[in-house]
Amino acid sequence: MSKKKPSDKQKEQELRNAYITSTVENIFSYVDNNFSKADIHIHSSYSDSVSTIEEILEYVQNKTDLMVIAIADHDRIDGALEAQRLTKEKGYRFEVVIGEEVSTLDGHILGLFLTKEIPPNLSAQKTASEIHKQKGLAIAAHPFYQSRLKDIDEPVANGVGATVLINEKHHFDALEITNGTPVFGRANVKARYFNRLLLFKAEVGGSDAHISHAIGKGYTLFEGKTAKDLYQAIKHRETQALKARWSPFGLLKYAYSFLPHALRMAFFTVLLGPHPKRHEIINFPSRIKIHRELSNQEKQEHSIIRN
Ligand SMILES: [Zn+2]
Ligand SMILES: [Zn+2]
Repeated sequence: MSKKKPSDKQKEQELRNAYITSTVENIFSYVDNNFSKADIHIHSSYSDSVSTIEEILEYVQNKTDLMVIAIADHDRIDGALEAQRLTKEKGYRFEVVIGEEVSTLDGHILGLFLTKEIPPNLSAQKTASEIHKQKGLAIAAHPFYQSRLKDIDEPVANGVGATVLINEKHHFDALEITNGTPVFGRANVKARYFNRLLLFKAEVGGSDAHISHAIGKGYTLFEGKTAKDLYQAIKHRETQALKARWSPFGLLKYAYSFLPHALRMAFFTVLLGPHPKRHEIINFPSRIKIHRELSNQEKQEHSIIRN
């Protein structure tokens, strides 16, 4: 009996699994070769996370193998400063980088390695130049995420999008092409495509954790161990953005923590109408074929694994 030909969907799933497999293989070889993990995008209860600084630090120390984390609260750095102080005081294994997720007029921008708070509501260009004045790094956070849900209290949590990325290309040090938020899959793929076809910036991954359980679900692999090594790796575009799988229990926890906020947004969106859809200068196909993401090197690695 002839074997049934796999459908396009099955093929796509197989390649998607291959991509994950080769990435896992990569991780082991990298770890062997003195590579470390950093989560560059963690929120604390100083902004809108349910986790306190103490809880985050304990989680990172006991439940992860991260060597560097950045506390990047919305428009403030006081939580990050406290985290850095406490980490040194308690002699934890990892280092804390002072980060801030700045709400710019154009969307969210991550400032890393900061010393002073960056004010919100500036343009992307002005925000990046303020970050660079402090010798920090300006990173487009979840650049292709766009929320159409409305909330009367909170500004829109969008990424900067294609137009800003192109117009302000020289102002960004890196793109967050892996954001660990469970619903950001498509936005992540768009960012990866866009960067590899057009921008060629350093690629970083962060969890965007608002609960401890999410920490490390998106991360950046870099050579070395310290915050300084991470800085150099981003500067030289030698990082890799990866993600860890969510467990069903983790997803449930995430959904539970997000539920009140989601219900609120659903209510106001029905009442006031959604945010208008952002016009992108590039049209992405509605169903992006994951196999195009495989680089030749990854394909080779995949064939080695299979043989
Ligand atoms: Zn954000
Ligand atoms: Zn965030």
